[in-house]
Amino acid sequence: MIPEKIIDTHMHIEAWDNDEYNFIDCFEGHREQSSLASLNICCLPTAQGAFANNIMVGLYKLAHPNTYAHGAFDHVIMPITENVPEGTDLVTQYRELMEIGFDGIKLIEGKPTALKPLGNNLNHPALDRVYTEMEKDGTHIVFHIKDPETFWDISKVEPWCIENGWFYGDGTYLSYEEIEKQAYALLEAHPNLKVTLAHFFFYGECPERLEALFEKYPNLCVDLTPGCEMYHSFEANHDYYKDFFRRNSERVMLGTDGTFPWATKGHVWCMDVLYRFIATSDARKAFDDAILTGINIDGAEKENILWRNFERRVGAKPKPINKEALKAYYEKYKKYMSEDTIAHIEPHIKMYLG
Ligand SMILES: [Zn+2]
Repeated sequence: MIPEKIIDTHMHIEAWDNDEYNFIDCFEGHREQSSLASLNICCLPTAQGAFANNIMVGLYKLAHPNTYAHGAFDHVIMPITENVPEGTDLVTQYRELMEIGFDGIKLIEGKPTALKPLGNNLNHPALDRVYTEMEKDGTHIVFHIKDPETFWDISKVEPWCIENGWFYGDGTYLSYEEIEKQAYALLEAHPNLKVTLAHFFFYGECPERLEALFEKYPNLCVDLTPGCEMYHSFEANHDYYKDFFRRNSERVMLGTDGTFPWATKGHVWCMDVLYRFIATSDARKAFDDAILTGINIDGAEKENILWRNFERRVGAKPKPINKEALKAYYEKYKKYMSEDTIAHIEPHIKMYLG
C-alpha cells in the first residue's frame, strides 16, 4: 500500500492468461494493492507480434479507461527496409496507433536483441521518418536503447543474462559504444524528441554523462525501471545520487517493468521498493538481495518523480480508445497473426468491440 499518488509508468503484457488469472486482473490487482493513481502499459513485439500486443492493450484500456498505453511497431519485413507492403510503413502504423487512442509509443528497437534482426541501424531512414513525425507532434516515447555494459563482457556478465540470450560479446552484435554512438546521433538529429530513455539509459556508473544529455535536450527523461545494476550504483554513491535526483527531479520517472504473466505480487513488491527508495530513508534488502537506502526526497521534487513528470509529458488523463479504429486495425493486420493468436483475440474483440 503506497500512501500517496504514484504512477507505474513501465509495464508489459506478454500473454492473455496464466494458471491463476488473466492479464487484466493481474494488473488491476497491482493497481489496487499498490494504490496506483494509474499505470502505463508499454506494448512490445512479443511472441504474438506487436499488432496483437497493441490490440490486447487497447482492449485493456477499454476495460479500464484509467490506463495509459504506449503502442509498438511491427516490422513486417526484417531487416528493416523501405519496401514494406503498402500501408504497413511505420508512419502509417504510428498514425493508426494515435487514432486508436494510444498515449505514446514504446520503442524496444535499441535493445541489442531487437536491433540485430532489424539490421543494426537505429537511424535507418524508415525509423528516422517516424522519429521526425513524433518529434513534430510532441508524442511521448519510452525508448529502450542498449543494455548494461557488462552484458558485452564475458568475464562480467551474469549467468542469468546469458540464459536470456543477453550476452552480446560474441561478435554478432553491435558494440556497446556503437549503439551509444547511434543513440547520440539520433538525439542530435531530433533534439526535441519527447523521449524517456528506459532503465536510466544504463548510466548508473556515469551519471555525469546523463546530466550532460539533460542539459542538451530539454525533453529528455529517464525512467528508474530496474536494471538491478543501477541500484547498486545508487547505493554505492548514495549521497551523490541524493543530490542528483533532487537536481534532476524533472527528468526521472518510476516503473517496475512488471510483466504479465508474472504474478501480481512481484509488481507490488517492486513498486514498494521504488517508492521507498525515493520517498523514505529506509535501508532494506532490494534488488539482488542487496541493501538499498532510500534517498528521502520530499515536496515538489518527490511529486515530480512519483507521478507529475509522467502526467506533464503524456497527459493528465489517458486518451480514450476509439473502438472503430481499434476494430479496423484488427481487421487490417489480422493476416499477420497466427491462427492461435487470432483464436485468443477473437473472443476479446467480440466482448469489447461487438
Ligand atoms: Zn520494459
